[in-house]
Amino acid sequence: MIFEVTILGSSSATPTAFRHPTSQVLNINEKLFMIDCGEGTQIQLIRYKIKYQRINHIFISHMHGDHYFGLVGFLSTMHLQGRNTPLNIYGPPELEQILQLQLNNNGNHLNYQIIFHALEQTESKVIFEDKELQIETIVLSHRIPCTGFLFREKERPRKLIRDKVIEYDLPISAFHDLKDGKDYIDENGKVYKNEDFTTPSRAPRSYAYCSDTIYNEAILPQINNVDLLYHESTFMNDSILRAQETFHTTSLQAGIIAAKAKAQKLIIGHFSARYRDLQPVLLEARSQFENTSLAIEGEKFRIE
Ligand SMILES: [Zn+2]
Repeated sequence: MIFEVTILGSSSATPTAFRHPTSQVLNINEKLFMIDCGEGTQIQLIRYKIKYQRINHIFISHMHGDHYFGLVGFLSTMHLQGRNTPLNIYGPPELEQILQLQLNNNGNHLNYQIIFHALEQTESKVIFEDKELQIETIVLSHRIPCTGFLFREKERPRKLIRDKVIEYDLPISAFHDLKDGKDYIDENGKVYKNEDFTTPSRAPRSYAYCSDTIYNEAILPQINNVDLLYHESTFMNDSILRAQETFHTTSLQAGIIAAKAKAQKLIIGHFSARYRDLQPVLLEARSQFENTSLAIEGEKFRIE
């Protein structure tokens, strides 16, 4: 049961010769979710051999171009490559109009349907749910409205201890209660304790994506105990004034957020083009939160 993030881009504002604008693909049990789509993202999808026609949901955090300028090119490529299944796009309300304008002026129509979900940007909402997974928005604090995304697996049913169930010859009707964590009581009133017949299934996994934001502790309750946290880290702390002016975070601050959130692991990204060597950026975050990695293009981060 895979739960893995692939980094496609890590640069803020402008690309560099070595870094692409922001984009990631999250694979949860072979369902692919794209998060942000900076310019050139489709080239990265090809480079890292991601089966992009299997992406059915794209999430755009905000309307700064380094987070969505790759979208129309990617939509067009999927059309040219024969896509015919619907695609869900979640983003700021203005994005819908921009896409329509770009897509409707060349006389061609996409072979597939785009289902646009305008995000409420002032409070957190559940925007996707299926039987395994829930996705909710995280309200961030940037120069313009900006939304993060929290992907969280749902609690799984408890596992039956097969030998025990056979030994006591429990009826199938008992399985439901036991899997739900309840005791089973037979028709004579005999109680079969849940913990004697089941074991817990593995803990649900979670990933929080916090793109452009100023240092903001208001997000902490929502991302508390997250397994994997991506947090932007545009500048180092010697440029904290610049970070504040532009509503960005420093690597030191990203480390503090991860520590306060009691995250298992931190990925930092959205690096300013001024940092050619990212080791000092990494070390600064690690001074606050040891288990930190850089969002390098092509890197994969898996939650086991
Ligand atoms: Zn931005």
